[in-house]
Amino acid sequence: MAVKVCKFGGTSMADGNVIKNVKKIIESDAERKFIVVSAPGKRYSADKKVTDLLLNCYAEVSACGDIKAAFAPVRARFVSLVKELELDFDINSVLDETEKAIAAEKSEDFTASRGEYLNARIVAKVLGAKFIDAKDVIFFDGNGALDGEKSYKAVAEALKGVERAVFPGFYGTGADGKVKTFSRGGSDISGAIVARAVKASLYENWTDVSGFLACDPRLVDCPKRIKTISYKELRELSYMGANVLHADSIFPVRSANIPVKIKNTFRPEDDGTSILPISRYTPSGTVVTGVAGKKNFTVIFIEKSLMNSEVGFMGKVLAVLAKEGVSVEHVPSGIDTMSLVIESCALEGGKLDKILAGIKSQVKPDVLRVIENIALIATVGHGMSSSVGTSARLFGAIAGANINVKMIDQGSSEINIVVGVSNDDYEKCIKAIYKEFFN
Ligand code: ASP
Repeated sequence: MAVKVCKFGGTSMADGNVIKNVKKIIESDAERKFIVVSAPGKRYSADKKVTDLLLNCYAEVSACGDIKAAFAPVRARFVSLVKELELDFDINSVLDETEKAIAAEKSEDFTASRGEYLNARIVAKVLGAKFIDAKDVIFFDGNGALDGEKSYKAVAEALKGVERAVFPGFYGTGADGKVKTFSRGGSDISGAIVARAVKASLYENWTDVSGFLACDPRLVDCPKRIKTISYKELRELSYMGANVLHADSIFPVRSANIPVKIKNTFRPEDDGTSILPISRYTPSGTVVTGVAGKKNFTVIFIEKSLMNSEVGFMGKVLAVLAKEGVSVEHVPSGIDTMSLVIESCALEGGKLDKILAGIKSQVKPDVLRVIENIALIATVGHGMSSSVGTSARLFGAIAGANINVKMIDQGSSEINIVVGVSNDDYEKCIKAIYKEFFN
């Protein structure tokens, strides 16, 4: 039988009623065998996520050493969850052990991970499924990166002969043997690891929205829903901040060609968005699949006569950045010019000055200029490579909105065009592009 791995996010775990609904969703499809859960999220907009309560708990314990008071709000959340679910489960004993372990471990990652740990124990009880602790099956290497091969093997081994299992998302074990978390939202990655390990037919990611939208709904009213998107397009859009899924979560499933489906726990009947490998992907018929962007980049502009014939020029410039540990996002270049597009926050703490001094001494440019407060906007779609005139439409729309384009970069795959505009023009530019391609 085909196997589906389902990851349920924080809002799908917020209270007992929602978890009862999740149980119905899982039990309505016999293929939904392996479940990954986040910690309970917000029940209402002013509420706090359990992970935030735990991080707060860690901060207070570190500052004043009093665990009891700091842990109280976490305890209250889980006690009421078990009550709402009418579960026969001695949650207070588990909470006592957890409280002691947090005080003993004195680790931020360990403390933050306990929301997923406690929740997965509860959900396993609700489903009558096996609880598998992520610390025993998900591993990081000495550089803090996922040790994929070791993790896939351990997950597959732990699931042999298991009918249904629940894993806590968000953490695993570091090279030092201690609990280590992914970055925030990392349960998406845990779900993808389990999907890859069991060669799932589908990785379902259950959240509180019915899939990806073609544009940020805070900027455009009711943007179109994306029905299908390729991994590549998703990577471009999530890199630019379209954040339904953790940006790193597609890597484990992408290399195994496992499709992902974004579904809405609160509207399970909605189609959602399918994220597909290119071999299974049929473009939706629109030229552009989505538009997304980010503010606050800095451009370092370098000009030098005969730059093109100076062997190793770019290498020397990039070595200056590497020495400062700064990564560059885009490097648009001309015959005698090149620009370095860098996230502004990476240049704080005097790094910008050091980089400018390094470039001056290494390549002696004729002109060296810094342009700050730049927003990048990516227009993404496989349809763009095959349709003539897409860039004319894009730049026509931007010009029509009276916006000055300060930088252009077209990826060599031709599935995206990135433009740099002033931060102040960001909203206007996204609206103009959306209107051109979707209205
Ligand atoms: N609970 C963690 C967070 O709030 C991880 C997750 O939900 O994926 O970021």
